[in-house]
Amino acid sequence: MPNHGPFDSRAGTAARPGSAATARPGAAGLGLTRMRFGIDLGGTKTEIVALDRDGALRLRHRRPTPPDYPGIVETIAALVAQAERETGTRGTVGIGIPGSLSPATGLVRNANSQALNGQKLDRDVAAAIGREVRVTNDANCLAMSEAADGAGAGHRTVFAVIIGTGCGGGIVSSGRILDGPNGTAGEWGHTPLPWMTAAEFPGPRCWCGRHGCLETFLSGPALAADCDGPGARDAGAIPARAAAGEDRAAAALARHADRLARALGLIANILDPDVIVLGGGLSNMQHLYAKVPPLMARHVLGDVARTPIVQARHGDSSGVFGAARLWDSA
Ligand SMILES: [Zn+2]
Repeated sequence: MPNHGPFDSRAGTAARPGSAATARPGAAGLGLTRMRFGIDLGGTKTEIVALDRDGALRLRHRRPTPPDYPGIVETIAALVAQAERETGTRGTVGIGIPGSLSPATGLVRNANSQALNGQKLDRDVAAAIGREVRVTNDANCLAMSEAADGAGAGHRTVFAVIIGTGCGGGIVSSGRILDGPNGTAGEWGHTPLPWMTAAEFPGPRCWCGRHGCLETFLSGPALAADCDGPGARDAGAIPARAAAGEDRAAAALARHADRLARALGLIANILDPDVIVLGGGLSNMQHLYAKVPPLMARHVLGDVARTPIVQARHGDSSGVFGAARLWDSA
């Protein structure tokens, strides 16, 4: 398949002349002259924002995400129609999903929202709203947003990670999402924890079928289980418990920070990003920004290890803002 650019949806749609999604009103040529709509398709809520040409937030709405696929497409179309009515303008549409489109089939894969898997989401939404849409995973959206006007602004290459209920990553370089022939660039969460100790090897079994994925060590549920045993899933109180003097909580946080440092050290050795941005629920744990950089330096080859590690500026909105920016690069 020829390379149609960094976005899954373009590869998926452009390869299918005659599909509904090729009815294209020249959205890419609109540049920043019109409104940009971003949609974050979450497991429970679907959110839309409108960013104007200056990047200012003009509108935000949320609706519950329906359990069925036709309902999801209808909800997205209804949110776009509502947003266009309220802003009085037509705009480009980008969608962030907790999964990706297969470059081979154009169908959604690896979404934790089961209704989406195996569906041609970009083409179905395009047919419903009468224009091409761009779809990518939520970590790429985080990277896009933070690189544009967030914690990664002014840096050339931004590696953004989500550490929350899951663990993912995205790369934006010179304003463009890096993606590749497999659509897997930045898929950091399902690579193994590097420099495993004997006690860590081979690591917990992951939902993806592998053992020892970073997600099984770094996500919120993984931290909770490491601290409080199998079945524990909420890591939210662990920092406060550690601060109150609980040794078990402090030890779990220390292991978690060391593992994150190893995982990011590997990224520095391969990609050497100019900045690493942390998003997702665990990015609120402030000790990470002090503890991880010196730990990471041990794993970066050579005599320099100065990659800044910073918290996402747009917080929970990074994904939806990034989705709105999916048409920023041609
Ligand atoms: Zn995995």
